[in-house]
Amino acid sequence: MNPENHTNSYYANSIKEETNYPVLDEELTTDICIVGGGFSGVSAGLHLSELGYKVVIIEANKIGWGATGRNGGEIIGGFSGDDIMQKKYDTKYTDMLWNMRWEGNDIIRKRVEKYHIDCDLKWGYLDVAIKKRHIQDLKFSYEDMQNHNYPHQISLLTGDETKNLIGTNEYIGGLLNMGNGHVHSLNLCIGEAKAAESLGTLIYEKSPVVRIEKNNKPKIYTSKGSVSANSLLLTGNAYHHFEKKMQNFIIPVNSFVIATEPLSNEIINKINPQDLAVCDPNYILEYFRLTGDKRLLFGTRLNYHGNDEDFIKTELRKKMLRIYPDLSNVKIDYGWTGKIAVTVNRIPQIGKLTSNIYYSQGYSGHGVNMTHLAGKLISEAISGTMERFDLFNSIRPVSIPGTYFLRRPLLSLGVMLYKIKDLL
Ligand SMILES: Cc1cc2nc3c(=O)[nH]c(=O)nc-3n(C[C@H](O)[C@H](O)[C@H](O)COP(=O)(O)OP(=O)(O)OC[C@H]3O[C@@H](n4cnc5c(N)ncnc54)[C@H](O)[C@@H]3O)c2cc1C
Repeated sequence: MNPENHTNSYYANSIKEETNYPVLDEELTTDICIVGGGFSGVSAGLHLSELGYKVVIIEANKIGWGATGRNGGEIIGGFSGDDIMQKKYDTKYTDMLWNMRWEGNDIIRKRVEKYHIDCDLKWGYLDVAIKKRHIQDLKFSYEDMQNHNYPHQISLLTGDETKNLIGTNEYIGGLLNMGNGHVHSLNLCIGEAKAAESLGTLIYEKSPVVRIEKNNKPKIYTSKGSVSANSLLLTGNAYHHFEKKMQNFIIPVNSFVIATEPLSNEIINKINPQDLAVCDPNYILEYFRLTGDKRLLFGTRLNYHGNDEDFIKTELRKKMLRIYPDLSNVKIDYGWTGKIAVTVNRIPQIGKLTSNIYYSQGYSGHGVNMTHLAGKLISEAISGTMERFDLFNSIRPVSIPGTYFLRRPLLSLGVMLYKIKDLL
């Protein structure tokens, strides 16, 4: 595993403060060692350092190099599989689970304020409907939020109202939610890493972990150093390759994003004057939003396993033009791909491998907010409060033998099945 720089994305080309943490080349001892410097690892690291723990974060490449530095930046609210969890647990946990759906958003909001993180954070999000059954789903969500006294502005929109907000005829209705939003994920993650560092967290980049020793004081090894810790947290997510027991827990799925050149004010006023993040309800979903410098960032999945920039730009541009034909003369500046970790039951996997080795992964494409909550749940568990952590930990990950080796054919099959579901 050779360390890499950031992929050539809009995010990597608009980093506010480049990170340049050292390579681990010594033997360290600490309270908590975290493997993986994406949102999961950095979020947990910041929570734990706020509690006063000595934390070391080891990243194979650069902070935010994985899904965190490549995603759509949409702060969606809720988490994948939350409906399944609501059904699984009795009414004792209804309120607890409901509150957890929005807590990740609040953590992001508070951290950006507290640590003055410059990351283009914007509130305002539109779920759009394509089919009549989607309108029913949006109504249900709206009523559910009202019944729970959701504290932010929400409104159900007709097709015409939706068109007025986002300048396209593609959708027949929408649910506007001012408690969700969007963010420059890589700048947020780097800002959080700097905040953790300011509280004493040690961070190492370009230092892939190649081995773990599991005993009463777990120890990780890189090619040049090691860290011995009281607790270890694994957050390699879809890029995790070394802990065999976890290889079949998740299906890594490729997802793709493009960003146009900055748009004129005239176009912006037509397509998204309120600067909302937009997301459709399909399994193979499409999402888009404006960036801080007013590009249209557009993402979806393709049944494609490569990372050819021109191919990604061409294929996603076609889909973008279906929604916004007027953008046909707009240049596509960036096209990139990243891996999403999908779980079989869609529920994020937050748990323990042994008494002192924790893991957090598998947000199924819905991780910007959830990684922030996951980090908090892990920090609660490590500091001795297990109740909320155990709601996830007691759902054992479904492991499919061979997933790791068969991930390409499984992915093609999965995309095909989801395409069929979307047509129904
Ligand atoms: C294209 C794309 C679009 C997405 N859009 C959205 C969206 O709009 N909204 C949303 O909520 N979610 C979205 N997601 C999902 C979201 O980005 C992820 O759920 C989230 O970033 C996961 O963060 P993480 O830290 O768990 O994983 P990652 O960010 O993938 O981080 C894992 C890190 O672990 C490191 N690592 C792996 N192995 C080792 C090792 N051996 N040693 C040391 N380090 C190691 C990797 O280098 C990597 O940096 C998207 C994902 C993708 C790929």
